[in-house]
Amino acid sequence: MSKKVVIIGGGIAGLAAGIYALKAGYEAAIYEKNSIPGGECIGWNRKGYHIDNCIHWLTGTRKGTELYDVWKTVGALSDDTEYAKIDSFYTSTYAGKSATLWNDLRKTEKELIEVAPEDEEEIRKFIEHMEYSKQCLFPASKPMEMWGMKDYISMGKNMADFPKVMKEYGKISLEEYSKRFKSPLLQKLMCDYLPKSYSAYSFLVSYATMADGNGNIPMGASLQMSLRMERKFKELGGQIFYNASVDKIELDKKMATGIRLTSGEVVSADYVIPATDIYPLFYKFLPEKYMPKEIKAAYDDPKAYPATSGFQVAYAVSEKFSRGETIFIDIDPIKVGSRSFDRMYVKAYGYDPIFVKDGKQVIQTCITQTDEDYEYWKTLSKEEYDRVKKELTDEVAKRIAVAFPELEGDMEFLDAWTPLTYERYCNAYHGSYMSFVTTPLGKQIRMKGKLKGIDNLYVAGQWTNAPGGLPVAVASGKFAIQRILKSEKKDIDI
Ligand SMILES: Cc1cc2nc3c(=O)[nH]c(=O)nc-3n(C[C@H](O)[C@H](O)[C@H](O)COP(=O)(O)OP(=O)(O)OC[C@H]3O[C@@H](n4cnc5c(N)ncnc54)[C@H](O)[C@@H]3O)c2cc1C
Repeated sequence: MSKKVVIIGGGIAGLAAGIYALKAGYEAAIYEKNSIPGGECIGWNRKGYHIDNCIHWLTGTRKGTELYDVWKTVGALSDDTEYAKIDSFYTSTYAGKSATLWNDLRKTEKELIEVAPEDEEEIRKFIEHMEYSKQCLFPASKPMEMWGMKDYISMGKNMADFPKVMKEYGKISLEEYSKRFKSPLLQKLMCDYLPKSYSAYSFLVSYATMADGNGNIPMGASLQMSLRMERKFKELGGQIFYNASVDKIELDKKMATGIRLTSGEVVSADYVIPATDIYPLFYKFLPEKYMPKEIKAAYDDPKAYPATSGFQVAYAVSEKFSRGETIFIDIDPIKVGSRSFDRMYVKAYGYDPIFVKDGKQVIQTCITQTDEDYEYWKTLSKEEYDRVKKELTDEVAKRIAVAFPELEGDMEFLDAWTPLTYERYCNAYHGSYMSFVTTPLGKQIRMKGKLKGIDNLYVAGQWTNAPGGLPVAVASGKFAIQRILKSEKKDIDI
């Protein structure tokens, strides 16, 4: 009889772990607290419109990359997948001027030099390092601790220029980096997409992924992608249990013997793969003593390892609104959470018919929230929370209408959600939908998947490798199974 792998969480990591477990010949069962798969990679409907929660870009859409093979194996992508036709990362506007980061780097270079000739030297350096950043591909063939000399040599060859990016941009924050530009518009542009405290290199790598055609958006959006993975898992013979919240991992000395659900039911297992946020793993499923020291240190230092969340609002507007797919605007300061913001973006979703209904399309905005903002939301009573959300929703709409007068009176409110939504829905730590961020103040967190003192438990999920995201989540599921195979001295090539 095959050994049984029990997986906690039916997000991208849990589904991937399940699919690879079945491919490797194990029995696999997933226990998910919600009623649908996908975790953070989902969308939902309001007033007949679809709202997307996740994919702004999906790293690994370029054929020939290791990650593409993983997405294909788990059924998320296929050679026939259609992608949104979007030709830019985003546009920033300031004081009547605008600048766009196009997927075509030459076009970006030309445009930035036109709007800010005083920054020509810095712009050319940026574009040169963007080209180098394209070499930063996510290694998804096997966990790094299983790499041999050949793997390192091949990575060194493929990423020969990437150390130049790390040298130039690895140790400074985006805020510091933006000051190298004289143009106030370019200063805004560099800080608009990611929080200012993040390392500058992470911004270059993000944009390079888009510019390299390796970060497309699959048509049908996030929920459909998760459902494709769920279908693949079931087709291979996996079982997924919904509305099944896990309370504890059962331990017997150095072995995890199974899981206990909040209903009291105990499910036995040969292997347990927690594929949730790691906060519930260390503070609920297991005694805290199993938490690695560097994880504890990261929780204790939110300045160096900030949570990434957002206050988000969706509206339906006339389909004709098309001022770029994602456009950042200057706004009258607005307090969201505990901080004040003077920039905001509007993303128009009309690129995919799933977001269009009766001549109207969905637009969304997300104002970044972090630990201190989460604390603010947490202090509110239910009534205050609803009131603040409603007031902010109106204030956000007013600011959008100032920037885009054609939308005045044309915005139908669909939904608003906050860091507390992610905490409630996914048990996400401080509502964070990415893992530990890499800032110049912190170290990159990387877990090897095993916990000291438990022999048959393998951690998966985006928190195993900073800064998280879909690529880390999907690869972590595969890696967990490869670690199990290795422990049984079996071939890890799956
Ligand atoms: C607004 C937004 C935009 C994003 N944009 C991008 C993007 O453009 N590109 C990108 O790469 N990433 C993006 N991400 C991040 C991406 O969604 C996550 O990195 C990824 O989905 C995490 O997957 P995961 O499986 O590790 O965790 P999760 O999605 O958190 O899955 C964990 C699962 O465990 C379940 N669970 C938790 N506790 C229990 C319990 N006690 N019992 C049973 N089940 C439990 C949860 O319900 C959940 O389904 C975005 C996220 C958000 C929210």
